Amino acid sequence: MGAMVVAEVVVVTDQLSDGCDVVVVGGGAAGLSGALMLARARRSVVVIDADAPRNAPAAGVHGLLARDGIRPAELLERGRAEVRRYGGHVVPAEVGAVAREDNGFAVALADGRTVRTRRLLVATGLVDELPDIPGLRARWGRDVVHCPYCHGWEVRDQAIGVLASGPLAVHQALLFRQWSTDVTLFSHTMPPPTDEEAEQLAARGISVVDGEVASLEIVDDRLVGVRLRCGTVVSREVLTVSSRMAARAGFLAALGLRPAEHPQGVGEYIPADATGRTEVPGVWVAGNVTDLAAQVGTAAAMGAAAAAQINADLVAEETRQAVAAYREPFSPESEARLCELVMGDRRHGL
Ligand SMILES: Cc1cc2nc3c(=O)[nH]c(=O)nc-3n(C[C@H](O)[C@H](O)[C@H](O)COP(=O)(O)OP(=O)(O)OC[C@H]3O[C@@H](n4cnc5c(N)ncnc54)[C@H](O)[C@@H]3O)c2cc1C
Repeated sequence: MGAMVVAEVVVVTDQLSDGCDVVVVGGGAAGLSGALMLARARRSVVVIDADAPRNAPAAGVHGLLARDGIRPAELLERGRAEVRRYGGHVVPAEVGAVAREDNGFAVALADGRTVRTRRLLVATGLVDELPDIPGLRARWGRDVVHCPYCHGWEVRDQAIGVLASGPLAVHQALLFRQWSTDVTLFSHTMPPPTDEEAEQLAARGISVVDGEVASLEIVDDRLVGVRLRCGTVVSREVLTVSSRMAARAGFLAALGLRPAEHPQGVGEYIPADATGRTEVPGVWVAGNVTDLAAQVGTAAAMGAAAAAQINADLVAEETRQAVAAYREPFSPESEARLCELVMGDRRHGL
């Protein structure tokens, strides 16, 4: 057992210093799925993961076909094992900075190590910025929730409060009405619903409570109510909140890649095309870092799709190089390639 751990450390250290085809930043559903595809495509791949997936506070991953309800940590444990089964590496560390180099990128880890890579897949997810209400963050993912498709079934028929904390609050209240007939919208610090929205809410039997929410009422580790600043307590078993979602990708700014405001005003994301390709050559994104609404299944699919594109991009580059060497067998480049093939690590100075 001990020997295996030592072997893994040695391999990972070598892998970090030698460089690789693809560094995947972030080992959640998107990153691990991309890494699995790349490892199976016989690419050298290193996943750098700070191990703080967005859904860590939740008890289970819901709506994921064939794995519905699996613990988030167990899903990722399985994913890491699958990546390693094909020779991929998963390194527990945080990426602090990324810089462009001649043939790719230098990825600097917060612990001082650097990995060189030809391509980058960024799957770092997002940060949920929550309203600053005492007690709210501690309940996040339990009885303070955001997504009806993640938690709706679990909170069905309960007394649900919807905290208006973003532009989609009325939409969220109308959605959660699908799971419970007892829904109350707290207008909190947002403007009151428009006449049209008020009519929709009334027609669906959703009550609206004006006034700022001051705190949550917790008894025996369960939400029992919402306290307004005026002192009134409205009994509720669940509170839904729209977080402001911010892509975790500050380190990409050095490459000229900055987050864009989401058109619905719900946060910011790294723009990319449908395959995850960003405007910076060699950099792909997948999962919540680029699609704020992606659930686990979608994030995994995005990672896989981006990985296939990255492999195709590398194949195209290698084909260009091969054609050049084929046409010019005695060019400096082809001499260098031949030398590398014959001499391997002993080629230095040649
Ligand atoms: C409370 C809650 C419950 C949810 N429940 C469900 C559910 O039931 N079903 C469902 O389908 N979806 C659910 N979701 C949504 C789910 O969390 C996302 O769909 C999913 O996490 C997106 O995967 P990802 O790989 O894009 O990002 P993440 O899972 O967030 O993974 C990103 C990874 O990148 C790492 N990382 C970030 N920055 C760096 C860095 N600089 N260096 C190295 N690593 C870094 C992070 O530590 C993390 O491990 C829930 C979300 C929340 C908040």
